Amino acid sequence: MADAARGLTRRVMDELVEPLCVSALNLPAAQASGAVFLRVLRDALFGTRGGADLLLPRTDLGALLPEAATRWLAGRGAAVRLGHRVQQLAAEGTGWRVDGTRFDRVVLALPPAEAVRLLRPLAALHPPVAEWIALAQALEFTAIATAYAFAPQGAALPAPMLALRGGADDGPAQFVFDRGRLGGPAGLLAFVVSHAGGEAEAIEAAVLAQAARQLPWLGVLTPLRTVVERRATFACTPALRRPPQALAAGLAAAGDHVEGPYPATLEGAVRSGLQSIPGTHRGGAGHIAERTDARSESLSHIPPTLPPRSAHRSSARDAYPLISADGRVPADRPPRHAADRDAARGARRG
Ligand SMILES: Cc1cc2nc3c(=O)[nH]c(=O)nc-3n(C[C@H](O)[C@H](O)[C@H](O)COP(=O)(O)OP(=O)(O)OC[C@H]3O[C@@H](n4cnc5c(N)ncnc54)[C@H](O)[C@@H]3O)c2cc1C
Repeated sequence: MADAARGLTRRVMDELVEPLCVSALNLPAAQASGAVFLRVLRDALFGTRGGADLLLPRTDLGALLPEAATRWLAGRGAAVRLGHRVQQLAAEGTGWRVDGTRFDRVVLALPPAEAVRLLRPLAALHPPVAEWIALAQALEFTAIATAYAFAPQGAALPAPMLALRGGADDGPAQFVFDRGRLGGPAGLLAFVVSHAGGEAEAIEAAVLAQAARQLPWLGVLTPLRTVVERRATFACTPALRRPPQALAAGLAAAGDHVEGPYPATLEGAVRSGLQSIPGTHRGGAGHIAERTDARSESLSHIPPTLPPRSAHRSSARDAYPLISADGRVPADRPPRHAADRDAARGARRG
């Protein structure tokens, strides 16, 4: 990303590129893949209508995504076995055996370390599997921390989500969510630290100090707990080689880490899952077969003008305008934009 951003002003970097890059790739621009970041920008700003809308769920993510998906699957006759950790994968004839049950085709939609564990016994017989394992083990990861704190009684953010000034001088958190305004307990705030470094205690102390500086009207916050996900996302660095989808006949991998055009996101995982199933990677699934190793582009390739306003979907009922940490809608940003993403998990993560 450092090459693609060359020549951009400090302000554009600080207020546009850095917050978007760390949100989408969980890496600062200096370390992130420019090709992947530009792909995300292109799809968000110039892809489908409403593609740049940020939407905040008013319900918890379990109800919003996995429970809805489970119902959808069950309604189509699929058997969903929750709480079962697959222990063994073995080749059997032209198919595969998973914990004793035979299948014609298997998709390993697992975190890379878990896929490696199941694949290791197959590596000697299937050279592509050995190569897959090597690529998966070479992935590096970056952390996301979420610091939860209670605001004094009656204090609330002026919107369900605020962007904070983050950075070495300002503090570690990029976004804060008011869970009280999103169906959670009143006064509960979630500060999201993408590309988090250090231990939970130090992050929590730095976030509280940042909140005192940038959100002084809230008063003194009471820390609840700080959760650090050390392997939250794979590090989407320039020219990264990711493990491929194909493993062997009838055996495929899927997941956000599998070769594809997107960083570690829900959308990347869904695209990968669709692509792993024959017959789904055309038509409705769009251009999911594209690869990340596309030629490196420069930000200057992005058209200087945005599509006309009429091309943007107006704020959805469940979305809110994005405003700055001091509670004002920035003058240069029309208040029409829907803001948000994912209350519990933040803008990535929360
Ligand atoms: C804190 C945090 C915040 C995030 N915020 C965002 C965000 O705001 N927006 C966004 O787009 N993305 C976000 N992400 C990234 C997003 O969650 C991932 O990109 C996405 O979940 C990856 O999906 P996946 O299917 O590849 O893997 P996973 O979601 O990890 O799914 C793998 C599944 O496999 C199961 N499993 C593991 N081992 C076994 C086994 N042996 N047998 C059976 N099942 C097994 C696991 O339980 C899990 O359910 C966030 C991630 C974290 C950690």
